[in-house]
Amino acid sequence: MSALQSTDPEIAALVAAEERLQADTLRLIPSENYVSAAVLEASGTVLQNKYSEGYPGKRYYEGQQNIDQVETLAIERAKALFGVEHANVQPYSGSPANLAVYLAFLKPGDTVLGMALPMGGHLTHGWGVSATGSWFRGVQYGVRRDGDSETRGRTDLDQVRELALKERPKVIFCGGTAVPRTIDFPAFAEIAREVGAVLVADIAHIAGLVAGGAHPSPVGYADVISTTTHKTLRGPRGAMLMSTEEHARALDRAVFPGLQGGPHNQTTAAIAVALREASGEEFRGYARQVVSNARALGEELAARGFDLVSGGTDNHLLLIDLSSKGVPGKVAAKALDRAGIVVNYNSVPYDTRKPFDPSGIRIGTPSLTSRGIGADAMPQVAEWIDRVVTGDGEVVTKVRAEVAELMRAYPAPGLSALRP
Ligand SMILES: *Cc1c(COP(=O)(O)O)cnc(C)c1O
Repeated sequence: MSALQSTDPEIAALVAAEERLQADTLRLIPSENYVSAAVLEASGTVLQNKYSEGYPGKRYYEGQQNIDQVETLAIERAKALFGVEHANVQPYSGSPANLAVYLAFLKPGDTVLGMALPMGGHLTHGWGVSATGSWFRGVQYGVRRDGDSETRGRTDLDQVRELALKERPKVIFCGGTAVPRTIDFPAFAEIAREVGAVLVADIAHIAGLVAGGAHPSPVGYADVISTTTHKTLRGPRGAMLMSTEEHARALDRAVFPGLQGGPHNQTTAAIAVALREASGEEFRGYARQVVSNARALGEELAARGFDLVSGGTDNHLLLIDLSSKGVPGKVAAKALDRAGIVVNYNSVPYDTRKPFDPSGIRIGTPSLTSRGIGADAMPQVAEWIDRVVTGDGEVVTKVRAEVAELMRAYPAPGLSALRP
């Protein structure tokens, strides 16, 4: 019996149940993934026990002989992998990392320009219910409502420029949580330069694709790069801020002592491991496969009458407007969940329904690709989604069994390592 089982059988049972759930279901939430056994192991170590406020070589506590080396390795690997001059690996997660950016460059009440949440942006890009939208003045851009298949549903860069010239933001965010298309970093950089704003590329969703060469890099265009480490990058829950030397000091001071206390050293170690994994040739293949799978799944869904926002995808995710199927997003997401296909309901641009009961679902391929599932399985996945969204309870039961069978054929990384 494990220590956890004997000390706390309730939590042990729930962890085991979650592991079974992750093993048996087709996980299509684009911000999720399966970390490797090595990443999992690193994040559950005695590094948990150590306080280390400050940065390597400049700590406020003694006994940093090993911790300094762990954090230095993580920093050096981030710099090498992304080709940046500076990296801070201490932010607790993506939202605190972005808040550190505000602290570094803005005063309360200053203007920030970001993509609106219902258009695909993130809460922390100045949206009203977030501290970033109430302590700062958030101005929001969106995607094009009209146009042909090349422009509809794509980021409206004319609007970004107009708003930037009119509102004079100190910081501009590009990137988001439901953006299925390539982010045009050079175009954003030109606008930011024109108005003297700091450009922040929030690559939380696509960091693994950038690292693996499957999405253009913001390096050389963005002043600051913010990312989580747990989405396509396939590391532990955490975040990083990267920049040129010019902004290094401001960002470091904003993270500590501006916003945080001691870094989570067990997470830093796991980030270092994930960065090492992401610098290998295998990971480049993974990143490319994530995109091929998403494209194949998009084509199969479109062929079955699904309405893809922007008409398709360039990256790991698909945003689907279910209005054409006559099924609300939440109803579809709950039916799919019962069938062992895990997605999230999501607003679509210009949604006529409420955020808690929107018209769309958002799906992505990072997790299934980590299991080794390839593009040849996408017709099957699209067929399941179609049958469940438009079908009844009997269909759900059937699909659940078929999904479980495919999942057994492609065991997920990391999970079996935990089985006692
Ligand atoms: C996920 C995400 C974040 C926030 O990360 P958390 O770790 O959930 O706080 C920030 N920005 C973008 C674009 C994201 O997708």
